[in-house]
Amino acid sequence: TQKGSPCTIEFDPVHWDDIGGLEEAKLKIQQAVEWPIKHPEAFSRMGLPSPRGVLLYGPPGCCKTTLVKAVATSSSATFLSLSGAQLFSPYVGDSEKLITEVFQRARAGAPALIFLDEIDSIIGKRSDGTSQRGVQERVLSTLLNEMDGIGIRLDEKTDSMGTGEDGSVRDLANKSVLIVAATNRPDMLDEALTRPGRFDRSVYVPPPDLQARLEILKICTKTMPVKDVDLSALAARTENYTGADLKNLCREAALLSLTEDLSSDLVTEEHLIKALSIVRPSLNPFLLNKY
Ligand code: ATP
Repeated sequence: TQKGSPCTIEFDPVHWDDIGGLEEAKLKIQQAVEWPIKHPEAFSRMGLPSPRGVLLYGPPGCCKTTLVKAVATSSSATFLSLSGAQLFSPYVGDSEKLITEVFQRARAGAPALIFLDEIDSIIGKRSDGTSQRGVQERVLSTLLNEMDGIGIRLDEKTDSMGTGEDGSVRDLANKSVLIVAATNRPDMLDEALTRPGRFDRSVYVPPPDLQARLEILKICTKTMPVKDVDLSALAARTENYTGADLKNLCREAALLSLTEDLSSDLVTEEHLIKALSIVRPSLNPFLLNKY
């Protein structure tokens, strides 16, 4: 990120079908983000409170960012992204100003989604350097101030007919800004959640099980010239692989094929099996125990 640049992200659309498994997480994110933006009347009719933020947590490389891009695509929302690392980068300069600018950008492009990656670095306790702690506190209070000013105010400003003083429920929804935060640090969750009025929902994004790994392998090999490959057997051999690992595995297999013969137009089971010893699983039971 350049100094002070508002982090509006242009990205290739991500469709729900591009994501293997994670049915429950997909539904929960749709409910929390897509439904209030696309069907505000339904939320108003049910007397549901104004959604403001949703927190995704789970091990790294298991699709949190991609899920947010998918929900931004399906909601036709502007997508802005800000990570803890960006905020605390020495190159950013004024972190608080950056947050304010991102929220301004979001309001101007509403309906909008602000993706806050590595939220733990903003919310979490830090036992190290005290100067960093000061910045962190200022960043957090700026963020909370901004968050207090957003959300779809279906419950306020609207009467029983769902019309508000500044327009219909739909107009209000069109002006909405929602926050989706992500963390790999479940131990920071409580702190994030106990602060009132912030994240209305938390959604666990688990590592892929056997069925999900098969689906991810199918997605990753869809555009590859694979032949006679038993993807179910491969899925069974990839326990503890994340979605990101599986994507790397397929890429590595294709590179192995090209390394043998640059004019190759075939990725075989042998290439994929060989790639298993190059791309190792990122997860392990000890790490997963935290979730
Ligand atoms: P981190 O916590 O490290 O930021 P993340 O949870 O946000 O990781 P992503 O960046 O969404 O993970 O995923 C990394 C890569 O792996 C992406 O290219 C994504 O497309 C792919 N991937 C991960 N899980 C899946 C999945 N379930 N289906 C399809 N692709 C996946």
